[in-house]
Amino acid sequence: MRRKQSAIQLKSVEQIRKMRAAGLVVAEGLAEMTAAAVPGASTADLDRIGRAVLARNGAVSSFLGYSYPPFPAVICSSRNEAVVHGIPRDSEVLAPGDLVSIDYGAILDGWHGDAAVTVLVGNPSGPDNARTADLIEVCRASLWDGLAAVKVGGRLTDISHAVETSVRAAGDFGIVQNYGGHGIGTEMHMEPHILNYGKPGRGPDLVSGLTVAIEPMLTAGSPHTTELDDNWTVVTADGSWAAHWEHTVALLEDGPWVLTAQDGGRAELAARGVQISALAGG
Ligand code: MG
Repeated sequence: MRRKQSAIQLKSVEQIRKMRAAGLVVAEGLAEMTAAAVPGASTADLDRIGRAVLARNGAVSSFLGYSYPPFPAVICSSRNEAVVHGIPRDSEVLAPGDLVSIDYGAILDGWHGDAAVTVLVGNPSGPDNARTADLIEVCRASLWDGLAAVKVGGRLTDISHAVETSVRAAGDFGIVQNYGGHGIGTEMHMEPHILNYGKPGRGPDLVSGLTVAIEPMLTAGSPHTTELDDNWTVVTADGSWAAHWEHTVALLEDGPWVLTAQDGGRAELAARGVQISALAGG
């Protein structure tokens, strides 16, 4: 049977370079917002930084005005039991030991970049925060294990399987099933949808020119989620805390290029035995 490949937008090298430019805006903004996610800061403060970074770079938000009701901010800020799609608020002030996921998208010259980080606010150590720190790190590592599976000759669910295998090996965490990664390019959300779990060797072929966002979402408890009546914020059903990490990656003939990572993914992928594309440069 022929595999359905036609709905997926493949990009030229020139187009991937444009997506890299958008990806670097996202990386710059997330680095600034990570540094600013300290006790006493509000999630609206983070959103204002996100807006300033877009303006400075001549980029526009992928998120602002998105869907219905129109998303009102340039970041999704999802604190503690919020998983994704949280709305930044002046009244939501970060406290030591909170975690906050910051999801940020930029459009530059018509091309999108999309990435997310999760920050442990105040970086406290000790047993009270160990489970939170673990949750964040297991999620981050599972993203990179998923990115390491983006190889020419592979299949889409190799990525899903790599994320799940990474999480299962790390302990007892919930993998959120209602949301996942996605194709990205001239739109933020495109085909294909990428689950964060499942058997390998299925779905579309991984081919040169593919650009996708991979985004594991993990909980410290049940994987089940529910949506708040703001019609956006997704929270865990059991109140357990959740982490979320994301990168946009392009696949080239000679390897992946993590477009929203400052170093193109070089260090994390080398640690997993994967060399990034020469297109990423020295
Ligand atoms: Mg995304």
